[in-house]
Amino acid sequence: MGSFSSSASIAKELLAPLRDDIIRLLTELVRTDTVAIPPEGKEAAGQAVLVEFLRSFGVDTEAYETAFVTTSGHRAVRRDRDYSGRRNVLAVAAGSGRGRSVLFNGHMDTVPPGHGKWTGSPWSGTLRDGRLFGRGSFDMKGGLAAQFGAICALRKHGIRPGGDVYAESVVDEEWGGGGGTLAARLHGPKSDACLIPEGTQMEAALASRGGAVIDIGCEAGDAAAYFSSGEVVSPAIPLGRLLGWVDTWVAKRKTVKPDEAYRQFDDPVPVQVLAIEANRFDLSEPYSVPVTAAVRVYFQFLPSEDPEQVLAAVRASLADFERQDPFFRDHPLFWKPAYDPPLVGHALAADHPWARTFVESASEAMGEPVKVTAAPYPCDAGLTQREFGIPTLLFGPRGAGAHNPDEYVEVESVLATATVLLAAALDWCAA
Ligand SMILES: [Zn+2]
Repeated sequence: MGSFSSSASIAKELLAPLRDDIIRLLTELVRTDTVAIPPEGKEAAGQAVLVEFLRSFGVDTEAYETAFVTTSGHRAVRRDRDYSGRRNVLAVAAGSGRGRSVLFNGHMDTVPPGHGKWTGSPWSGTLRDGRLFGRGSFDMKGGLAAQFGAICALRKHGIRPGGDVYAESVVDEEWGGGGGTLAARLHGPKSDACLIPEGTQMEAALASRGGAVIDIGCEAGDAAAYFSSGEVVSPAIPLGRLLGWVDTWVAKRKTVKPDEAYRQFDDPVPVQVLAIEANRFDLSEPYSVPVTAAVRVYFQFLPSEDPEQVLAAVRASLADFERQDPFFRDHPLFWKPAYDPPLVGHALAADHPWARTFVESASEAMGEPVKVTAAPYPCDAGLTQREFGIPTLLFGPRGAGAHNPDEYVEVESVLATATVLLAAALDWCAA
């Protein structure tokens, strides 16, 4: 490592001996069920795998309880969640104290496998054509393996960057949670920059969107009267008109002028229907007229938007629709947010020192200019940057199938992500 070596070539050298270890960590994490379904989450087994891995490299590691967030009084806390036994893991590669610090933040929780058809077990960790399959492989155990691989490489070679390098694995990111990252920021460390290695196809995402999931529906009719009285009141057909109202919002949001970061997107602020419910088709449900009908709507928001203000306009419009509808006028709609307050987006200016350093380091490490883009989803970046003032960007592996069957991550891109993260940390933290 001569004085002319770039951080990118140093990072490659430092990581080369850890190749198999990083793939092993990724495989073990994917084979470990860390599903979270609110109010609970099973991150503990994955955090234990991670802690053992870090300790085998002698990395300074801490696992701490997150339950204190519930009584923290922070505006973003989800009071309905149970954090007992759910611990965050923090790993530190201490610097000499003369440079800027950086934090890698990833989440250990995954969504459940869902009801779609998987080719193999969701916990297989099977490697096929360079793709490692399993729930959470892409979202975001690939990113976790990369960021902790970078920390272990520093420790293994006894490298002290100028500033501290932190890597944390948090709980409760899915389902609009944010509780793990909130606990992490209240617990510490404070850092000068943050990178979240969510799957970004190895592009640098400088922005993320806000989001809200709302169940809107109606309970109407008398279940006891069906098949025994002539009068049947049902919200099923009115649900069609409710979907028509949702469609007016799909159209309305398409007319919003996008922020710079989302100008290239076909649909910069999507409104999506995630589920529609009015009885079930499987035969556990007797033929009967539904008494409840509902739609689950996912609104996303530009970083510059105030989600609560947009939702206030949505609710006013829903109230108008309800007043004018022959059925809902007499059978009022319910409005149930899945989490509250909504998630906020974030945007890091392209000329911010962290963005500039990262783009330069990543391009060097990848051997081609890294594409700068924006994330098509909300994540914990809204918390780290908007609530805690830490400049944040996203960069992570290639893959597909997040929240869907046959999720996979490309293993080579996990290793390449580790190199990019380490190169950027060396450059950013240099004294
Ligand atoms: Zn994720």
